[in-house]
Amino acid sequence: MNNTINQKPVREIMTVAHKQMITPHYIRIYLTGQADTIANIATMTVGANNKVLIPVDKAQPIDLNDNTTFVVRTYTHRGADVAKQQIWIDFVAHGDEAPASGWATHAEVGDEIGILMKPKTKALCPDADNFLLIGDATAIPVLGSILETLPASATGQCIIEVHGVEDEQELSTAANITMTWLHNPDPTQGSQLIDTVKSLDLPTAEQSRFAYIANEFSSVKALRHYLKVEQQWSKDELYAFSYWKAGVAEDQSVSDRQAEKNNE
Ligand SMILES: Cc1cc2nc3c(=O)[nH]c(=O)nc-3n(C[C@H](O)[C@H](O)[C@H](O)COP(=O)(O)OP(=O)(O)OC[C@H]3O[C@@H](n4cnc5c(N)ncnc54)[C@H](O)[C@@H]3O)c2cc1C
Repeated sequence: MNNTINQKPVREIMTVAHKQMITPHYIRIYLTGQADTIANIATMTVGANNKVLIPVDKAQPIDLNDNTTFVVRTYTHRGADVAKQQIWIDFVAHGDEAPASGWATHAEVGDEIGILMKPKTKALCPDADNFLLIGDATAIPVLGSILETLPASATGQCIIEVHGVEDEQELSTAANITMTWLHNPDPTQGSQLIDTVKSLDLPTAEQSRFAYIANEFSSVKALRHYLKVEQQWSKDELYAFSYWKAGVAEDQSVSDRQAEKNNE
């Protein structure tokens, strides 16, 4: 990664250029903005997170200086195309009532959204021989981005829980990764991820290994406990973060999710 690129923080209102249903519960939104902003974002790590500012009322324009006009949510930078002047973000469609999910579900070409991004060139994972990648649907963008960057020499397992078989995605990688898709139509009621991970033969401490975990709060907590306490994975071998908390809107669960991470 080139750390000398002169990246700038992004704070811009962008417009929907195109919308694609990747699967029945996954929506890719292509956004267009200022050419220099897109060129700036194109230098940032794919898979890094951004903040999306969802309009409170689609009929009222967002004012970046008035936080009563938008709701802030965290998503993943999934790609950029400088020639087309577009970036894209993938949204889980988990219901119309939730601001971000509902916005993406009903988004139309020309709709506005605010995008905030901090400069980032750091890779998402350190070098390792063996990877354990675990997540629910919200983690597909980050895990997909990691898979795309792994070298052919890497091995490992990737376990992703989605709504149903129709929501499995083709994720490309040069690495030798065994993919396991789990199906869970209601991830607010629990997850099979922890039981599945407990059934695996994991790489040993003698191996160079790294785990990346991103999913719902309770299962992140259980997975962190299992790997860190029961399996003795060190802090340097594990990144785990709750991407959402069942029953709680994102802005109301930030402190719980951060505290769970700090407890590592
Ligand atoms: C670093 C980071 C990166 C993320 N990247 C992505 C991404 O690229 N794509 C993506 O789709 N999500 C991503 N998420 C998760 C996303 O921010 C949350 O799912 C967020 O709560 C969605 O906002 P909302 O307005 O739709 O729902 P909220 O208003 O936050 O929540 C409303 C209700 O919906 C529930 N809920 C939230 N998410 C889900 C879900 N996935 N399934 C079922 N119920 C849910 C909540 O528990 C709450 O009860 C990321 C989160 C983090 C921290």
